[in-house]
Amino acid sequence: MQLELSPADAEFRARMREFFTTKVPQEIRDTVLDGRHLTRDQIVESQRVLNAEGLAVPHWPTEWGGQDWTDLQRHLWHEEMQRAGVPIPLAFNASMIGPVIAQFGTEEQKARFLPDTANLDIWWSQGFSEPDAGSDLASLRTTAVRDGDDWVVNGQKTWTTLGQHGDWIFTLVRTDPEVKKQAGISMLLIDMTTPGVEVRPIELIDGGHEVNEVWFTDVRVPGDLLVGEPGQGWTIAKFLLGNERVGVAPVGATKRALAGLKTVAAAQMEDPMVRARVAELENQLLALELTALRVVAHSAGGEPHPASSVLKLRGTELQQAVSELALDLAGPASLASRADEDSPQEGWARRSAPTYLNFRKASIYGGSNEIQRQIISRTILGL
Ligand SMILES: Cc1cc2nc3c(=O)[nH]c(=O)nc-3n(C[C@H](O)[C@H](O)[C@H](O)COP(=O)(O)OP(=O)(O)OC[C@H]3O[C@@H](n4cnc5c(N)ncnc54)[C@H](O)[C@@H]3O)c2cc1C
Repeated sequence: MQLELSPADAEFRARMREFFTTKVPQEIRDTVLDGRHLTRDQIVESQRVLNAEGLAVPHWPTEWGGQDWTDLQRHLWHEEMQRAGVPIPLAFNASMIGPVIAQFGTEEQKARFLPDTANLDIWWSQGFSEPDAGSDLASLRTTAVRDGDDWVVNGQKTWTTLGQHGDWIFTLVRTDPEVKKQAGISMLLIDMTTPGVEVRPIELIDGGHEVNEVWFTDVRVPGDLLVGEPGQGWTIAKFLLGNERVGVAPVGATKRALAGLKTVAAAQMEDPMVRARVAELENQLLALELTALRVVAHSAGGEPHPASSVLKLRGTELQQAVSELALDLAGPASLASRADEDSPQEGWARRSAPTYLNFRKASIYGGSNEIQRQIISRTILGL
């Protein structure tokens, strides 16, 4: 297998690097590079800079702002973005609902939603999971009942990431309780300002507000906001979740975090035990990066390869391992996690504990790692 970039791909990589490091505001990139939280405005601004250059949704159909790139070029775009500290375009918009509307939506839905979705004029939330429907998503109970031209929605969603910023939410709802559970599910697009929609925050162990519960009480949704046919929701969800998994192996960001640690904790790097741990992680990240390139080389026509489950599994394990190393290197300074900017403890050390705690989530969301292992055993190993 040829792993050297061709001159054209090397030139492409250089072009991406140049754009990301010169056109996206430094203050936004510094926020990412320092591991601080981005504001809603920063996420929106960054995506609009990318979109103006055609770099926000390259994997969409070209008619709707996509680029006719190879899978390798998309991979390089993603890697360079992470390396430069550019926020990845909001996954709910760029990787989830956008491709779904482009594939399953009516022409009217495409014209209405796709440009605003690419430009983050609409902020989408993902309303799939429910208290008893996570890995077993087909058990979801939120109902949508036809009333004239409208659907009337009742139920509860949970773990809705950044739902506090959401303008619209794409939801899976049960429209037919009589048939096999997968066959009775449909997808509805719901304006979150509609009466009866309520967003309640869930407080996290790191003190942050990232996820929410979303409650629906007699929410009226116009019939033209159903995506695809009634009962097609499960097919659409599988298409969406396959795309979700591809984007969740943060190799570039983890490499950047590890390289940063070598600089900020330079004194501890003299310790042979620490050096060995860093070298081991660097080797594993390199192996994952090469695996990512192999997955890209074998994915056909933009369809996710089953090996994307390997990327999700190993990518999140390494992300967690690097956050654990940071916590260990920070030592007692990590306990200053709620301290202000004027604390004598350095920022990276103060952030190490919340970051470590926050990244526990990575092995759960986007399909838990146990579920990824099952996919690997079934579809790759044939067990
Ligand atoms: C930080 C965070 C953000 C999220 N954001 C969103 C969002 O924006 N929108 C949304 O819709 N959802 C979101 N989710 C939900 C996420 O998709 C679910 O948490 C996930 O699918 C797991 O479901 P569950 O939490 O119900 O756990 P369960 O499915 O109850 O699983 C509990 C444990 O059992 C294991 N398990 C379950 N079934 C099996 C099996 N068959 N074999 C082996 N082990 C199994 C799981 O791996 C896990 O370890 C988010 C979750 C988190 C943690």
